[in-house]
Amino acid sequence: MATVGKVITCKAAVAWEPGKPLCIEEVEVAPPKAHEVRIKVVATGVCHTDWEYLFETGKGMKFRPFPLVLGHEAAGIVESTGPEVTRFSPGDKVIPLFLPYCGECERCLSPKTNHCKKNWTNMQAGVLADGTSRISCKGQQVYQFLGVSSFSQYTVVPDTSVAKIRSDAPLDKVCLLGCGVSTGYGAAINAGKVEKDSSCAVFGLGAVGLAAVMGCKVAMARRIIGVDINPDKFEKARQFGATDCINPRDYSKPIQEVVVEKTGGGVDYALECVGSPAIMNAAFESTRDAWGTCVIAGWTETEVMSISVEKLLMGRTLKGTYFGGWKSVKDVPKLVDDYMNHKLKLDEFITEKLPLVQINKAFDLLKSGKSIRTVISLQDS
Ligand code: NAD
Ligand code: ZN
Ligand code: ZN
Repeated sequence: MATVGKVITCKAAVAWEPGKPLCIEEVEVAPPKAHEVRIKVVATGVCHTDWEYLFETGKGMKFRPFPLVLGHEAAGIVESTGPEVTRFSPGDKVIPLFLPYCGECERCLSPKTNHCKKNWTNMQAGVLADGTSRISCKGQQVYQFLGVSSFSQYTVVPDTSVAKIRSDAPLDKVCLLGCGVSTGYGAAINAGKVEKDSSCAVFGLGAVGLAAVMGCKVAMARRIIGVDINPDKFEKARQFGATDCINPRDYSKPIQEVVVEKTGGGVDYALECVGSPAIMNAAFESTRDAWGTCVIAGWTETEVMSISVEKLLMGRTLKGTYFGGWKSVKDVPKLVDDYMNHKLKLDEFITEKLPLVQINKAFDLLKSGKSIRTVISLQDS
């Protein structure tokens, strides 16, 4: 390819400072260094976490350096590879990942966790292994969100943070497996280990929550209660398998009391997919004593939750999940297969498709509750 070894000039949505809309800019994307892959990003979802880092940074989220290119739920095509990259070639279809999988460390070799720490500190700080980013704009370094930065037509990521996927996968659909759908689905399947004939409650019916509903349904749960303050989400939740949908605003008592009453003692599994400590507590208190499990998938980095120790002592389990427990590089291609084999829904999550220039509209749709997932086409002008 003519671009190999050269800087690529392309368009990206740059976040210059927290709390301000993204700006479409011309950026320079440097060639990949050792163990790095440069990707032509074809499609990216817009996740709640992108919005949170822009508008909640320093509040619910830790401070990240700006300027920054957000985006972490994407799919694309390998443009070129740096030295010592053995698993990828130009033209491969890939999903970049915010969670690495090196395949060699103690954590990658253990079935107990998916928390590989390869390049972790740098990825959290918005840079790659050598401590710098590959993206710059107007002569200034632009940080890479979680080491990914998919709101750019090209990006460079570590080769331990890329999943190679089958060549017939539609990139504008499977991009959703880069974050939200995998997280919610895995929260039910891997973290919760939801069982057949069980009762479940899913708090928050955005993409993560709907994917959790889908996971509960695949696990053949008997009852799946969807909880959201936006009743517009209920129809879709029923399509995904929710048996009941409830709105906390329709009740004068706390929602956990409603769930406990409806289920004669609480649900076997509660999944929190909002990202609020108060709702995490409500989810925990919705579970049945003796064996109820509450899984936290919603994201906050600075807040703390408090729970009743007595309720914990009565045999409940409280756990959190990052990327749904999937071992990213290894498991994402299998999730793509599941989608291609019609075992897993993706199309139903997509409520809008927009070109990169309209990315701020995607944030507006997310915040107003009008979208589940907007997919941004990076290569359309
Ligand atoms: P979203 O904004 O699409 O959905 C959130 C839903 O929660 C909305 O439908 C909203 O109406 C609902 N909600 C808000 N307040 C509520 C309340 N008080 N009670 C019930 N429902 C309420 O967001 P999303 O993209 O689905 O992400 C959900 C959460 O998951 C976010 O916190 C996100 O940061 C987090 N997340 C975590 C991981 C992970 O690895 N753990 C990965 C991706 C996203
Ligand atoms: Zn996300
Ligand atoms: Zn590892």
